[in-house]
Amino acid sequence: MSGSHALRGLRAAVVGGSIGGCAAALALHRAGCRDTTVYERTAGALADRGVGVAVHAARYAELAAAGYLDASMPWVRLAERHWYVRDERVPLGRMLGSNAFPFRTYNWGPLWRELRARVPEGVRFRSGTPVLSVAESGAGAAVHTEDGSEPYDLVIGADGYRSVVRAAVCPAVEPRYAGYLAWRGAYPQSRLPDSGSWPEHSCAYVVFSGATSSSTAFRGRTETYASTGSSTPQCPSARASAATTPPRFRPELWTHRRGPCCTNS
Ligand SMILES: Cc1cc2nc3c(=O)[nH]c(=O)nc-3n(C[C@H](O)[C@H](O)[C@H](O)COP(=O)(O)OP(=O)(O)OC[C@H]3O[C@@H](n4cnc5c(N)ncnc54)[C@H](O)[C@@H]3O)c2cc1C
Repeated sequence: MSGSHALRGLRAAVVGGSIGGCAAALALHRAGCRDTTVYERTAGALADRGVGVAVHAARYAELAAAGYLDASMPWVRLAERHWYVRDERVPLGRMLGSNAFPFRTYNWGPLWRELRARVPEGVRFRSGTPVLSVAESGAGAAVHTEDGSEPYDLVIGADGYRSVVRAAVCPAVEPRYAGYLAWRGAYPQSRLPDSGSWPEHSCAYVVFSGATSSSTAFRGRTETYASTGSSTPQCPSARASAATTPPRFRPELWTHRRGPCCTNS
């Protein structure tokens, strides 16, 4: 792997050692940082969070060429997305249509482990070290932990939705409930009475009143997400559905989905 060395000689910190943090540490090392530290509040390996981190085939090609992902990582090919709606005459629901879905899905755990393994040895990965705050300091920023304060030329925030780095950079910005809920469940595929009926390499989107659920199979397990919006007309899941649904069957899907989320649309 070669890098541009655009950050040659800088001392850098990354707050958060999950997927974004490991990828950032790798990028900083490739860009020539002489000394990089990752702060991760969780001790030990991060736990599995299930199937479903989807990477578009074209993005995979870029990430593989740059050395972030490689073909040996376990993944499942998705080719199509099938849209189902309720129909009493068909037990599985009626398939309204399908559209291309050229994605690879990765189980969160192996994806994290592979990225973690690619973080170069020279990068310090401090597990079990929560960052208490980040503050400007001279030409850079200081990272405060229980062990004291460390100055850096550059601090990257990869610390999730309650980011302490964001609090330092944009103190007025606070996370706000966006108006939708999501549930996730994973179970052995053998427990599905109709498991053989679902097409291979497809992701099933089941649309019913007020909610959309999606299911993907991965190594004998089926992972299902369901999301529903609140009464806000700006509900992001409704906007996302509108953006990613093929126009030819959008009106009918919309009718089936009409529920608390869409009463104003
Ligand atoms: C099952 C699943 C499927 C998903 N599928 C997709 C998908 O298809 N597409 C997509 O774009 N996204 C998807 N996501 C969402 C997203 O990709 C993942 O949540 C991903 O883990 C986000 O990575 P991240 O590194 O940005 O943040 P996070 O995984 O949230 O990591 C933040 C890290 O920072 C650490 N941290 C937080 N605060 C501190 C602190 N003060 N000090 C030190 N450490 C701190 C946390 O412990 C955590 O490890 C999915 C998520 C899950 C769980």
